[in-house]
Amino acid sequence: MRDSRPCWQKILAQGFSTAAELLNFLQLPASFANNIAEKQFKTRVPRGFAALIEPGNRYDPLLLQVLAVDDELLVRDDFINDPLQETAANPLKGLIHKYPGRVLLTLTGACAINCRYCFRRHFPYADNNPGRQGWQPVIDYISNDVSIKEVILSGGDPLLANDSVLAPLFSRLAEIPHLQTLRIHTRIPVVLPERVDQGLLALLAESPLHKVVVLHSNHPNELDERVAEACKALQAAGCHLLNQSVLLAGVNDDPDVLAALSERLFACGVLPYYLHVLDKVQGAAHFDIPLARALSLFGQLQSRLPGYLVPRLAREEPGKKSKTLLIR
Ligand code: SF4
Repeated sequence: MRDSRPCWQKILAQGFSTAAELLNFLQLPASFANNIAEKQFKTRVPRGFAALIEPGNRYDPLLLQVLAVDDELLVRDDFINDPLQETAANPLKGLIHKYPGRVLLTLTGACAINCRYCFRRHFPYADNNPGRQGWQPVIDYISNDVSIKEVILSGGDPLLANDSVLAPLFSRLAEIPHLQTLRIHTRIPVVLPERVDQGLLALLAESPLHKVVVLHSNHPNELDERVAEACKALQAAGCHLLNQSVLLAGVNDDPDVLAALSERLFACGVLPYYLHVLDKVQGAAHFDIPLARALSLFGQLQSRLPGYLVPRLAREEPGKKSKTLLIR
Protein backbone atom coordinates (compact mmCIF):
# COMPACT_ATOMS: atom_id res chain seq x y z
CA MET A 1 0.00 0.00 0.00
CA ARG A 2 1.29 3.50 -0.82
CA ASP A 3 2.37 5.63 2.12
CA SER A 4 -0.03 8.62 1.98
CA ARG A 5 1.66 10.62 4.74
CA PRO A 6 3.29 13.90 3.66
CA CYS A 7 7.01 13.41 3.14
CA TRP A 8 9.42 14.70 5.74
CA GLN A 9 10.82 17.40 3.43
CA LYS A 10 7.36 18.93 3.16
CA ILE A 11 6.81 18.76 6.92
CA LEU A 12 10.22 20.37 7.44
CA ALA A 13 9.39 23.19 5.03
CA GLN A 14 6.17 23.87 6.90
CA GLY A 15 8.04 24.53 10.17
CA PHE A 16 8.37 27.93 11.82
CA SER A 17 11.16 30.04 10.37
CA THR A 18 10.61 33.22 12.36
CA ALA A 19 10.23 33.80 16.09
CA ALA A 20 7.24 36.07 15.43
CA GLU A 21 5.30 33.21 13.73
CA LEU A 22 6.21 30.80 16.49
CA LEU A 23 5.17 33.23 19.25
CA ASN A 24 1.92 33.97 17.44
CA PHE A 25 1.18 30.22 17.27
CA LEU A 26 1.87 30.00 21.02
CA GLN A 27 -0.33 33.02 21.81
CA LEU A 28 2.61 35.00 23.09
CA PRO A 29 3.67 38.57 22.17
CA ALA A 30 6.26 38.98 19.42
CA SER A 31 8.21 41.30 21.75
CA PHE A 32 9.48 38.23 23.66
CA ALA A 33 11.93 37.60 20.81
CA ASN A 34 15.01 39.63 19.95
CA ASN A 35 15.44 40.46 16.25
CA ILE A 36 19.19 41.03 16.43
CA ALA A 37 19.75 37.65 18.12
CA GLU A 38 17.52 36.05 15.51
CA LYS A 39 19.54 37.58 12.68
CA GLN A 40 22.70 36.09 14.18
CA PHE A 41 21.19 32.59 14.31
CA LYS A 42 17.89 32.11 12.54
CA THR A 43 14.79 30.50 13.96
CA ARG A 44 13.92 27.00 12.87
CA VAL A 45 11.29 24.94 14.70
CA PRO A 46 9.28 22.02 13.26
CA ARG A 47 5.54 22.26 13.92
CA GLY A 48 5.48 18.91 15.71
CA PHE A 49 8.01 20.20 18.26
CA ALA A 50 6.11 23.50 18.61
CA ALA A 51 2.93 21.55 19.33
CA LEU A 52 4.60 20.15 22.46
CA ILE A 53 5.14 23.67 23.87
CA GLU A 54 2.50 24.89 26.31
CA PRO A 55 0.63 27.83 24.71
CA GLY A 56 0.96 31.07 26.66
CA ASN A 57 3.97 29.89 28.68
CA ARG A 58 7.06 31.92 27.83
CA TYR A 59 9.10 29.77 30.22
CA ASP A 60 8.18 26.45 28.66
CA PRO A 61 11.38 24.34 28.66
CA LEU A 62 11.04 23.49 24.96
CA LEU A 63 10.41 27.11 23.97
CA LEU A 64 13.45 28.33 25.93
CA GLN A 65 15.65 26.10 23.76
CA VAL A 66 14.50 27.65 20.47
CA LEU A 67 13.52 31.29 21.10
CA ALA A 68 16.00 34.06 20.21
CA VAL A 69 16.01 36.31 23.28
CA ASP A 70 17.71 39.47 24.54
CA ASP A 71 20.11 37.49 26.75
CA GLU A 72 21.91 36.15 23.65
CA LEU A 73 23.40 39.59 23.14
CA LEU A 74 25.18 39.54 26.51
CA VAL A 75 28.91 39.51 25.87
CA ARG A 76 31.12 37.43 28.15
CA ASP A 77 34.82 37.09 27.44
CA ASP A 78 34.83 33.40 28.30
CA PHE A 79 32.06 32.63 25.75
CA ILE A 80 33.57 32.49 22.26
CA ASN A 81 32.64 31.55 18.67
CA ASP A 82 34.48 28.21 18.46
CA PRO A 83 34.63 26.92 22.05
CA LEU A 84 35.90 23.47 21.04
CA GLN A 85 38.38 24.84 18.51
CA GLU A 86 37.13 22.40 15.89
CA THR A 87 38.41 24.50 13.01
CA ALA A 88 41.93 23.49 14.18
CA ALA A 89 41.11 19.76 13.76
CA ASN A 90 39.62 20.07 10.28
CA PRO A 91 42.20 18.64 7.81
CA LEU A 92 39.72 18.29 4.93
CA LYS A 93 36.44 19.90 4.05
CA GLY A 94 33.71 17.90 5.78
CA LEU A 95 36.05 15.98 8.12
CA ILE A 96 37.03 16.67 11.74
CA HIS A 97 39.66 14.37 13.28
CA LYS A 98 39.87 15.19 16.98
CA TYR A 99 39.92 11.82 18.70
CA PRO A 100 42.03 8.74 17.95
CA GLY A 101 40.24 5.90 16.18
CA ARG A 102 37.31 7.94 14.96
CA VAL A 103 36.52 10.80 12.63
CA LEU A 104 33.55 13.07 12.38
CA LEU A 105 31.96 13.99 9.06
CA THR A 106 29.97 17.22 8.92
CA LEU A 107 27.48 16.09 6.34
CA THR A 108 25.38 19.21 6.23
CA GLY A 109 25.34 22.52 8.07
CA ALA A 110 21.58 22.54 8.36
CA CYS A 111 19.40 21.27 11.19
CA ALA A 112 15.68 20.64 11.47
CA ILE A 113 15.68 22.82 14.58
CA ASN A 114 18.02 25.60 15.62
CA CYS A 115 18.90 25.20 19.30
CA ARG A 116 20.00 28.51 20.77
CA TYR A 117 22.73 26.92 22.93
CA CYS A 118 24.33 25.05 20.02
CA PHE A 119 28.14 25.03 20.21
CA ARG A 120 28.31 25.01 16.41
CA ARG A 121 26.08 28.05 15.94
CA HIS A 122 29.05 29.99 14.53
CA PHE A 123 30.82 27.08 12.79
CA PRO A 124 31.75 27.99 9.18
CA TYR A 125 29.66 25.26 7.52
CA ALA A 126 29.41 27.07 4.22
CA ASP A 127 33.23 26.86 3.82
CA ASN A 128 33.35 23.31 5.08
CA ASN A 129 30.95 21.34 2.94
CA PRO A 130 32.66 19.38 0.16
CA GLY A 131 29.42 19.24 -1.81
CA ARG A 132 27.63 16.19 -3.17
CA GLN A 133 30.55 15.12 -5.38
CA GLY A 134 33.38 16.07 -3.02
CA TRP A 135 33.51 13.18 -0.58
CA GLN A 136 36.27 11.19 -2.35
CA PRO A 137 39.16 12.86 -0.44
CA VAL A 138 37.32 12.11 2.81
CA ILE A 139 36.79 8.46 1.86
CA ASP A 140 40.49 8.26 0.86
CA TYR A 141 41.54 9.79 4.21
CA ILE A 142 39.57 7.15 6.14
CA SER A 143 40.71 4.32 3.83
CA ASN A 144 44.35 5.31 4.29
CA ASP A 145 44.28 5.37 8.09
CA VAL A 146 43.73 1.88 9.47
CA SER A 147 43.47 3.25 13.01
CA ILE A 148 40.04 4.71 12.15
CA LYS A 149 37.43 2.22 13.32
CA GLU A 150 34.44 4.50 13.57
CA VAL A 151 32.88 7.22 11.47
CA ILE A 152 30.60 9.67 13.20
CA LEU A 153 28.08 11.51 11.05
CA SER A 154 27.38 14.87 12.55
CA GLY A 155 26.46 18.31 11.37
CA GLY A 156 24.33 20.22 11.53
CA ASP A 157 22.09 17.20 11.53
CA PRO A 158 23.25 14.40 9.21
CA LEU A 159 19.76 12.95 8.85
CA LEU A 160 18.73 16.14 7.11
CA ALA A 161 20.72 14.85 4.14
CA ASN A 162 18.50 13.11 1.60
CA ASP A 163 18.64 9.35 1.14
CA SER A 164 20.25 10.01 -2.25
CA VAL A 165 23.24 11.48 -0.36
CA LEU A 166 23.26 8.94 2.46
CA ALA A 167 22.97 5.81 0.29
CA PRO A 168 26.25 6.18 -1.66
CA LEU A 169 28.09 7.37 1.45
CA PHE A 170 26.89 4.39 3.50
CA SER A 171 27.96 1.96 0.79
CA ARG A 172 31.37 3.53 0.32
CA LEU A 173 31.99 3.48 4.05
CA ALA A 174 30.90 -0.18 4.21
CA GLU A 175 33.62 -1.02 1.67
CA ILE A 176 36.44 0.21 3.95
CA PRO A 177 37.70 -3.02 5.57
CA HIS A 178 38.98 -1.56 8.87
CA LEU A 179 35.84 0.46 9.55
CA GLN A 180 33.57 -1.19 12.12
CA THR A 181 31.03 1.31 13.30
CA LEU A 182 28.82 3.99 11.84
CA ARG A 183 27.64 6.41 14.48
CA ILE A 184 25.01 9.05 13.76
CA HIS A 185 24.60 12.06 16.03
CA THR A 186 21.15 13.44 15.42
CA ARG A 187 18.31 15.38 17.00
CA ILE A 188 16.00 14.51 14.08
CA PRO A 189 14.17 11.48 15.58
CA VAL A 190 13.25 13.80 18.48
CA VAL A 191 12.30 16.95 16.58
CA LEU A 192 11.22 15.57 13.17
CA PRO A 193 10.38 11.89 13.72
CA GLU A 194 8.71 11.77 10.27
CA ARG A 195 12.25 11.69 8.81
CA VAL A 196 12.64 8.17 10.20
CA ASP A 197 10.82 6.80 7.17
CA GLN A 198 10.95 3.51 5.31
CA GLY A 199 13.72 4.71 2.98
CA LEU A 200 16.05 5.66 5.82
CA LEU A 201 15.24 2.54 7.81
CA ALA A 202 16.04 0.36 4.81
CA LEU A 203 19.40 2.09 4.30
CA LEU A 204 20.30 1.54 7.94
CA ALA A 205 19.12 -2.05 7.97
CA GLU A 206 21.20 -2.82 4.86
CA SER A 207 24.46 -1.43 6.22
CA PRO A 208 26.75 -4.20 7.52
CA LEU A 209 28.48 -1.78 9.93
CA HIS A 210 27.59 -1.62 13.61
CA LYS A 211 25.13 1.23 13.88
CA VAL A 212 24.88 3.57 16.83
CA VAL A 213 22.40 6.44 16.83
CA VAL A 214 23.08 9.08 19.48
CA LEU A 215 19.98 11.15 19.96
CA HIS A 216 19.87 14.56 21.53
CA SER A 217 17.00 15.20 23.90
CA ASN A 218 17.04 17.57 26.85
CA HIS A 219 13.58 17.27 28.35
CA PRO A 220 11.01 14.48 28.73
CA ASN A 221 8.29 16.68 27.17
CA GLU A 222 10.13 16.29 23.84
CA LEU A 223 9.53 12.54 23.77
CA ASP A 224 5.96 11.98 22.68
CA GLU A 225 4.55 8.82 21.10
CA ARG A 226 5.72 9.81 17.60
CA VAL A 227 9.27 9.95 18.92
CA ALA A 228 8.86 6.63 20.74
CA GLU A 229 7.72 5.00 17.48
CA ALA A 230 10.70 6.43 15.56
CA CYS A 231 13.05 5.07 18.22
CA LYS A 232 11.49 1.63 18.08
CA ALA A 233 11.77 1.62 14.28
CA LEU A 234 15.47 2.56 14.47
CA GLN A 235 16.04 -0.29 16.90
CA ALA A 236 14.24 -2.69 14.59
CA ALA A 237 16.65 -1.55 11.82
CA GLY A 238 19.56 -2.72 13.97
CA CYS A 239 20.62 0.57 15.62
CA HIS A 240 21.80 0.88 19.22
CA LEU A 241 20.22 4.00 20.69
CA LEU A 242 21.93 6.37 23.13
CA ASN A 243 21.09 9.92 24.18
CA GLN A 244 23.10 12.96 25.03
CA SER A 245 21.67 16.01 26.73
CA VAL A 246 23.00 19.43 27.54
CA LEU A 247 22.46 20.79 31.03
CA LEU A 248 20.59 24.05 30.47
CA ALA A 249 19.50 26.64 33.01
CA GLY A 250 15.72 26.95 33.09
CA VAL A 251 15.23 23.88 30.88
CA ASN A 252 16.46 20.81 32.74
CA ASP A 253 18.50 21.98 35.76
CA ASP A 254 16.15 20.10 38.04
CA PRO A 255 16.64 16.55 39.37
CA ASP A 256 12.97 15.66 38.81
CA VAL A 257 13.21 16.68 35.15
CA LEU A 258 16.49 14.86 34.59
CA ALA A 259 15.20 11.69 36.27
CA ALA A 260 11.99 11.83 34.22
CA LEU A 261 14.07 12.30 31.06
CA SER A 262 16.15 9.19 31.78
CA GLU A 263 13.04 7.13 32.54
CA ARG A 264 11.22 8.30 29.42
CA LEU A 265 14.28 7.65 27.26
CA PHE A 266 14.47 4.12 28.61
CA ALA A 267 10.78 3.58 27.86
CA CYS A 268 11.60 4.58 24.26
CA GLY A 269 14.47 2.06 24.13
CA VAL A 270 17.22 4.67 24.53
CA LEU A 271 20.01 4.64 27.11
CA PRO A 272 21.15 7.95 28.66
CA TYR A 273 24.79 8.42 27.62
CA TYR A 274 26.15 11.90 28.29
CA LEU A 275 24.91 14.90 30.22
CA HIS A 276 27.09 17.72 28.94
CA VAL A 277 27.82 20.89 30.76
CA LEU A 278 27.34 23.78 28.37
CA ASP A 279 30.05 24.55 25.84
CA LYS A 280 30.91 28.19 26.24
CA VAL A 281 29.68 29.47 22.91
CA GLN A 282 28.96 33.13 22.42
CA GLY A 283 25.23 33.87 22.73
CA ALA A 284 24.47 31.00 25.12
CA ALA A 285 25.80 32.31 28.46
CA HIS A 286 22.29 32.59 29.91
CA PHE A 287 21.99 28.77 29.76
CA ASP A 288 25.10 28.28 31.89
CA ILE A 289 25.01 26.59 35.30
CA PRO A 290 27.78 26.81 37.89
CA LEU A 291 29.81 23.61 37.99
CA ALA A 292 29.02 23.06 41.70
CA ARG A 293 25.31 23.03 40.85
CA ALA A 294 25.88 20.60 37.95
CA LEU A 295 27.72 18.26 40.32
CA SER A 296 24.96 18.53 42.90
CA LEU A 297 22.29 17.72 40.28
CA PHE A 298 24.32 14.74 39.16
CA GLY A 299 24.61 13.48 42.76
CA GLN A 300 20.85 13.73 43.16
CA LEU A 301 20.32 11.76 39.95
CA GLN A 302 22.68 9.05 41.14
CA SER A 303 20.80 8.72 44.39
CA ARG A 304 17.45 8.17 42.73
CA LEU A 305 18.11 6.19 39.53
CA PRO A 306 19.67 2.81 38.78
CA GLY A 307 23.20 3.21 37.39
CA TYR A 308 22.25 2.37 33.81
CA LEU A 309 19.89 5.36 33.73
CA VAL A 310 22.46 7.87 34.98
CA PRO A 311 24.21 9.63 32.08
CA ARG A 312 27.89 10.52 32.41
CA LEU A 313 28.41 14.13 33.36
CA ALA A 314 31.00 15.41 30.92
CA ARG A 315 32.65 18.44 29.42
CA GLU A 316 34.52 18.85 26.15
CA GLU A 317 37.82 20.64 26.42
CA PRO A 318 39.65 21.83 23.32
CA GLY A 319 42.78 19.82 22.48
CA LYS A 320 41.92 16.87 24.77
CA LYS A 321 41.82 13.37 23.27
CA SER A 322 38.50 12.53 24.91
CA LYS A 323 35.70 14.17 26.84
CA THR A 324 36.46 15.04 30.45
CA LEU A 325 34.23 13.11 32.85
CA LEU A 326 33.32 15.30 35.79
CA ILE A 327 32.58 12.42 38.13
CA ARG A 328 34.18 9.01 37.87
S1 SF4 B 1 20.19 19.99 16.36
FE1 SF4 B 1 22.25 19.79 17.26
S2 SF4 B 1 23.64 20.69 15.77
FE2 SF4 B 1 21.55 21.39 15.26
S3 SF4 B 1 21.28 23.35 16.31
FE3 SF4 B 1 20.51 21.76 17.69
S4 SF4 B 1 22.25 21.24 18.99
FE4 SF4 B 1 23.07 22.31 17.19
